Amino acid sequence: MERWEADEAFRELLEQNPREAASRYGLTADAESARPIWDRYFDQTQPTSLGVQRYRSFVREKLQHRDELRLTSKPRSAAFHAWRGRQMARTTSQLGPAKSHGIVHPLAAFELSKGCSVGCWFCGISAPKLGDIFSYSDANRGLWRDVCQVWREEIGPAAEQAFLYWATDPMDNPDFEKFSCDFHELCGYFPQTTTALPLRDVDRTKRLLRLSEERGCLLNRFSLLTLKILDRVHESFSAEELAFVELVMQIRKDTPSKAVAGRALEKALKKGEVDYQTSTIACISGFLISMVDRTIRLISPCPASNRWPLGYQIFAEGTFETAEDFRRQLQRMTSGEFMPMAVSSRTSVGLRSDLSWSTSEQGLTLSSYYLHQTFRGPDSYALEKLGRMLAERRWTAEEVALGVDSDLATTFLLLNQMFRSGILDEEPVALSLSC
Ligand code: SF4
Repeated sequence: MERWEADEAFRELLEQNPREAASRYGLTADAESARPIWDRYFDQTQPTSLGVQRYRSFVREKLQHRDELRLTSKPRSAAFHAWRGRQMARTTSQLGPAKSHGIVHPLAAFELSKGCSVGCWFCGISAPKLGDIFSYSDANRGLWRDVCQVWREEIGPAAEQAFLYWATDPMDNPDFEKFSCDFHELCGYFPQTTTALPLRDVDRTKRLLRLSEERGCLLNRFSLLTLKILDRVHESFSAEELAFVELVMQIRKDTPSKAVAGRALEKALKKGEVDYQTSTIACISGFLISMVDRTIRLISPCPASNRWPLGYQIFAEGTFETAEDFRRQLQRMTSGEFMPMAVSSRTSVGLRSDLSWSTSEQGLTLSSYYLHQTFRGPDSYALEKLGRMLAERRWTAEEVALGVDSDLATTFLLLNQMFRSGILDEEPVALSLSC
């Protein structure tokens, strides 16, 4: 299936002559018995082989695991939990249910180097060239372990929902494994690895896969840039070693880039392509922490745009020197200033700029490119007024509640339903680093 996904020539040959395709590519699996998973014309009501059933269960289990991670990560802070829920609702409306269903919204990513040595053409987060590396010196080790400790204390058991790379490749940091072991010890889970450099040092990669498996990490990923790299990965690693490694195909000719964001967006703009739909590879609704620069940002995915070219919005930024600074920043960013729990009378309320509104017998409908959400409540005159005032985006909740000329409690209830659904605009204004 990896070969089938990546290689157009293989797909063509497979359709014409399955046995020949299997033998030419050195595959021992019986291509005929695997037909239900590669032949789109196969009658899916027919019985399938045990191998196909097992493969499908395996895929289902992976998807189920992803959904569990998405829905069960509950940070200790109720404000953070509610904020993350709103960001998940907003991304579903802005990116569409199909795309957003694949976003896990982990709570944090820690960068252990600055930039990335790979330089992928599609890099959705425009990683700069590799610069400083956060080495495992005594001082850095101390800071790292203290930061992990604080992260666990502030976030609770959900602290394990984090990983140790962002616009970086884990294998660029020679001490990645040591940092991962510390995170496992202090936060409860061995973090998942995604690397585009599985072949740089095959023995090291194999050791990392073994370490990761021994410590209970369920899945890792290799990002593959060419068919040659795929060939070499299949030569260098056994099927068993790759069983719990997803090969993410980023092969320019045969597969589209995962998202039009970052460098892929820059390229599309340069080529004057106008028919693309922007997207994102960002997945965190939480904190992006650079251990090199000692910065912390509160971010959440959004479609890439001129304003948010990297496909995520930045809600708050700060710096830290010590673990206690880091704690203060976490507490500041999970406070009511950045994560209000509800609409109060003084809250400015307006629709997200990508939404349009209309009223009908069913109620007030707010529509994005992908989703229509309808809210029922007061009479149609009041709903019409509510839609208009929210679209004007210049009123407080109190002014709206008085303006729609309906029962105040009902209007506040509606506004809070919209707030929880990610309908009300929370898009941050431009920020500058502050302590
Ligand atoms: S996609 Fe990943 S590996 Fe490629 S340049 Fe960006 S950060 Fe590096």
